[in-house]
Amino acid sequence: MLTIRHLSKTYANGVHALRGIDLDIPQGMFGLLGPNGAGKSSLMRTIATLQDPDQGSIELDGTDLLADKPATRRLLGYLPQEFGVYPKVSAEAMLEHFAVLKGVTARGERRELTEALLRQVNLWDVRKRKLGSFSGGMRQRFGIAQALIGSPKLVIVDEPTAGLDPEERNRFLNLLAEIGEKVVVILSTHIVADVTDLCPRMAIIGQGQVLLTGEPREAIRSL
Ligand code: ADP
Ligand code: ADP
Repeated sequence: MLTIRHLSKTYANGVHALRGIDLDIPQGMFGLLGPNGAGKSSLMRTIATLQDPDQGSIELDGTDLLADKPATRRLLGYLPQEFGVYPKVSAEAMLEHFAVLKGVTARGERRELTEALLRQVNLWDVRKRKLGSFSGGMRQRFGIAQALIGSPKLVIVDEPTAGLDPEERNRFLNLLAEIGEKVVVILSTHIVADVTDLCPRMAIIGQGQVLLTGEPREAIRSL
């Protein structure tokens, strides 16, 4: 369970991106739905310890995620909204590189892990291809493989379905649902169907505040 309390963030330009966010996020897929500018990315970056809140706390099963950033980064996987990859590098080589960055330095272990992850996201057959030749859906699945290095307890995925065609989108969301059987997965999106199709629980955020939480179809009906 991820527990967020009174989380606030005002940027240097005066924008109040987060205004006292309180959320309890159980294991499984959790949808964070909101329009552009609602504060989704700000919340995701804060949970990922890439920016500090002005106020508030974030705990995962009682562990304070803001206290020890390196430790937090070891236990979470993050697929940012703008996930950049080197276009001229093969999927396999790039994933091995990410594994090194995450501290998997033993070569044999790294190879095994890379193979297991590429198979899990269904990219094993195209592992030698350069990332620049990948479709949007393949790139996102590669992004998930990267996020899963180190067996994270928390996986954060920011606006992952933007630009995917329906088949790629379904494939990607099914992959997330599988992952969500074991860990907390937060899916940020402005697309209602991403949440209603997949997430047992969700929150709607707007202007830096939680507007409602609950089971998606009920929550949306009550709007
Ligand atoms: P600095 O000027 O100290 O680099 P900023 O807060 O201006 O800090 O920018 C930090 C990052 O956030 C930059 O990558 C910038 O492009 C981005 N950024 C700045 N303003 C916005 C905004 N309104 N919406 C989204 N991203 C922004
Ligand atoms: P969302 O992901 O829901 O689109 P964001 O968290 O990106 O929302 O943005 C929330 C608000 O904060 C917006 O008004 C945005 O312009 C602003 N913002 C986001 N990042 C920055 C930044 N680094 N510096 C200044 N303002 C930002």
